[in-house]
Amino acid sequence: MATVTFFHAHPDDETIATGGTMADLAHQGHRVVLVTATRGELGEVPDALLDPGESLAERRMSELAEAGRILGVSRQSFLDYHDSGMAGEESNGRPGCFAAADLDEAAEALAGILAEEASEVLVIYDEHGGYGHPDHIQVHRVGMRAAALAGTPVVYMSTMDRDFIEALRQQAADSDWQPPEDTLDEPVTMGEPASRITTEVDVTRWIDDKRRAMRAHASQIGPDSFFLSMPEDVFTTVWGQEWFIRVRPEPTATDGRREAALLLSPDSAIANAAGVASGVGVGR
Ligand SMILES: [Zn+2]
Repeated sequence: MATVTFFHAHPDDETIATGGTMADLAHQGHRVVLVTATRGELGEVPDALLDPGESLAERRMSELAEAGRILGVSRQSFLDYHDSGMAGEESNGRPGCFAAADLDEAAEALAGILAEEASEVLVIYDEHGGYGHPDHIQVHRVGMRAAALAGTPVVYMSTMDRDFIEALRQQAADSDWQPPEDTLDEPVTMGEPASRITTEVDVTRWIDDKRRAMRAHASQIGPDSFFLSMPEDVFTTVWGQEWFIRVRPEPTATDGRREAALLLSPDSAIANAAGVASGVGVGR
């Protein structure tokens, strides 16, 4: 059995980006460790959500604990940085915030957990943090350095398949179900082009767990949110797979095929090579 450490920026990121993969690994008996850089203090706060004297950080910590139970997380640790807020905000440079953290200091803290856990695998974000949030970009930078310090043999970047999202948008435009207007306008800059993605995990088996874990993050993903208001079949189409780019061991040419699971040790690279065909498989 392996130990797989997921490094995320804020409570709820683990569920949205990698929740199905975490549940899948936990169900197979692997140890799933979740390290969260911040408590998401600068998230939006719906009116009348918090109890008197309660902070958003406290609420999000209990939401994260509940999501972790649903997804089978064995250990959750914080790196104790402060949420940096969205790109361009004044909060990005505040002392103590993750985006402004000393790279070595943050990497050493994460590497300490990787070493303590003898974690075979580390999952971080792609170079632009999926969508450019400064804390997500910092997850990539700190994660890469920590993996080098700890000698973690297998490293993946969680991302989104940009071509898949573009195809979904087209599909939505032609269907009865209409996503919110603003999700249709802008060009897709999220994630990475399909050609970069090495690994696609089918998590449809765990889609109910993923949805329940999203619901657990009620302060950020309300029942009327875009995510949770999708019809069930649309939800499964959108959230039924999770994408990764293998950083190391460096993938060899795979004639366009994707791995169907994370490698759990560097030696399993060959056994894992026969994966799913790549491509925009909307509607599968
Ligand atoms: Zn986040």
